[in-house]
Amino acid sequence: MIEHILFIFVTLISVGILIWSFSKIFRIIKLLKKPYSLKNVGERLNRVYKVVFAQTKIMRFPIVGFMHALVFWGFLLITFGSGEMVLDGLIGLPFDNNPLNDRVLGFLGLAYDILIAGGDIFAWIIAILIIAFLVRRNFMKIKRFTGKEMRHRDHKDASFALFLILLLMLSLIGMNAAYFVHTGINAKGIFPLSSQLADFIPVNSAHIIELSMWWTHISLIFFFANYLPYSKHFHVFMSIPNVYFSRTEPYTKMSTMANVTDEVKMMLNPNASSVQANQSTEPERFGLKDVEDGTWKNYIDSLACTQCGRCTSVCPANLTGKLLSPRKIVLDYRRRMEEKMRGLLKEGKTYQDSKSLYPDYTSYAELWACTTCNACAQECPVSIDHPSIILEMRRYIFLEESKAPSLINSMSTNIENNGAPWKYSAADRFNWAKNIKMKVNGEEKEIKVSLMSEKSAENKIPEYLFWVGSAGSYDEGGMQISRNFAKILEYAKIDYACLGTEETDSGDNAKRAGNEFLAQMQAMMNIETMNAYKVKKIVTCDPHDFNAIKNEYPDLGGNYEVMHHTQFIQDLIRQGKIVLKPDIFKNTKITFHDPCYLGRGNGEYNAPRFTLSKIGNITEMKRNKSRSLCCGAGGTQMFKEAEKGNQEIYELRTEDALETGCNLIATACPMCMTMMKDGIKMKDKEQEVKVMDIAEIVVKSLGI
Ligand code: SF4
Ligand code: SF4
Repeated sequence: MIEHILFIFVTLISVGILIWSFSKIFRIIKLLKKPYSLKNVGERLNRVYKVVFAQTKIMRFPIVGFMHALVFWGFLLITFGSGEMVLDGLIGLPFDNNPLNDRVLGFLGLAYDILIAGGDIFAWIIAILIIAFLVRRNFMKIKRFTGKEMRHRDHKDASFALFLILLLMLSLIGMNAAYFVHTGINAKGIFPLSSQLADFIPVNSAHIIELSMWWTHISLIFFFANYLPYSKHFHVFMSIPNVYFSRTEPYTKMSTMANVTDEVKMMLNPNASSVQANQSTEPERFGLKDVEDGTWKNYIDSLACTQCGRCTSVCPANLTGKLLSPRKIVLDYRRRMEEKMRGLLKEGKTYQDSKSLYPDYTSYAELWACTTCNACAQECPVSIDHPSIILEMRRYIFLEESKAPSLINSMSTNIENNGAPWKYSAADRFNWAKNIKMKVNGEEKEIKVSLMSEKSAENKIPEYLFWVGSAGSYDEGGMQISRNFAKILEYAKIDYACLGTEETDSGDNAKRAGNEFLAQMQAMMNIETMNAYKVKKIVTCDPHDFNAIKNEYPDLGGNYEVMHHTQFIQDLIRQGKIVLKPDIFKNTKITFHDPCYLGRGNGEYNAPRFTLSKIGNITEMKRNKSRSLCCGAGGTQMFKEAEKGNQEIYELRTEDALETGCNLIATACPMCMTMMKDGIKMKDKEQEVKVMDIAEIVVKSLGI
């Protein structure tokens, strides 16, 4: 009786403390902004199934991933037994000394036997794996467990939590063995492994051993549950909600600031009454300076982080010695929230102390080192979105402090004045299309790239708009890609046209720099032009503009079917409109560099490989497809000095390519092509290794 009362008392205290801990978290969540629409319930549940229950992301590191998955699946089974133990305790069964009654769910029969047997086997497996994890963490020098953000107490916390899990498993094994001896043939459930310990347990002390193990196990469960919210192992609770609430949009889609949209509409059209009617949404602050400026998803991201370091281990900035570590970005948020939480709960969002997330925790140099490649988000086993925190802080720096790197400011001024990130005249935007020569039936002829305005004058709407983009219009390599793609369009007799000087910069780089006003202004101007020409289908050679127009323009009223030129070429080959001749590349060893905004951002890995497979064999780099390393140009890095480090990112990526022994690096982005060419030049390999866009390879193969 006393034990029964004691158990109820302990349970109430534990649950009470847990509710108190969670209530603080819920109050903070209520204080923060909503991140995005939470529709797509089906897709979200599917993601939870894949990422959490099937452990697909964690398995990307196969050996340790499988070990972790075993622990997770084992925990699920053991939770069934633990739940039953709490029920048993609340009813008082373990204390009545009647072996026939002491398992409340025993009536489930065979299903019960299977579940309990599974739990028993996994208790042993988990115990062994936890010992392996403890050895690995404490005695092996695993690089991703280190980093400036990993404090001594974080390591102690990790080991302590593992030790608690080990004790949980050992007490469960001991309890199962003693229960087996105590109840004999009346045992409910099967204990295939723990029953092997029966010989070590005297029959007359079995019940007392069982009860003490029962109490130990239950006390550890209650302690562990209440320790978790203050430990790195909080992901045990938070990973399922975090994965469920993660973004369902492409990684590289950046949010649209609705408050800015109203102001930009006013700037572009001051008389629009519908715009004036929406003026009530003045933001408290542009971007993110401190934790209360974030969304509740940023917050639960920070609580779900397991500190595994997978994100940092694939970050190109970190790999090349720059200050940025995506794990630190997430941990900075959690630590700053822990520091400010009490004040925020007391005084609300107006509470201020003398610090802020930026720059006291996360520094300027870290934020400007990011290439927005999203390798971190791709790799995170609990679907944390690091780049959105980084980009929101850049928005704060740009829009509130006007302190962006000077070259980024020049880039913005150029876009404002010339509609391009460089100091070129807007009137020269269509110069790339001059004097394009193409071989037709063995004869060279000049091709004429049509303009939408000309087509419109003839009352025609071409099927495709060829969106050239700033790099394709002004950058030497980019112009070469545009010319080659125009030849392919002509050769395949595609009904297309360009905007020419009516096209202006897409706003992609301005957006990644945090200049949301300029980005939206550019986007709206382009949308107005394209909508006026009734554009429906767009094809572009630039993965960054492809991403912006496909994923970000719809928020501003631009809805188009957008294709990257590698997808378009793939379709042309499939339709038989172009037939590639492999002869010219038959002795060429090709490797392909995946552009982050095409591959990781928009899931297109196959189209470029499909085309390349028609002309030769591809040797993959060790980091390829979703694991591909960024070339170092994205996220505005192309337009600024690289942050301090021990290597250029493009150099590291070039080393990846050279390791394959290739003599042709195929690319599918003007910026990637520039970076890889720079890398080959730096390595003094220009004679042996060529860098070509897929469009150039196709043109050469067609012999046009
Ligand atoms: S987006 Fe890329 S560069 Fe930026 S933090 Fe993530 S991995 Fe690093
Ligand atoms: S953010 Fe994700 S990948 Fe990075 S340490 Fe945390 S859990 Fe691991």
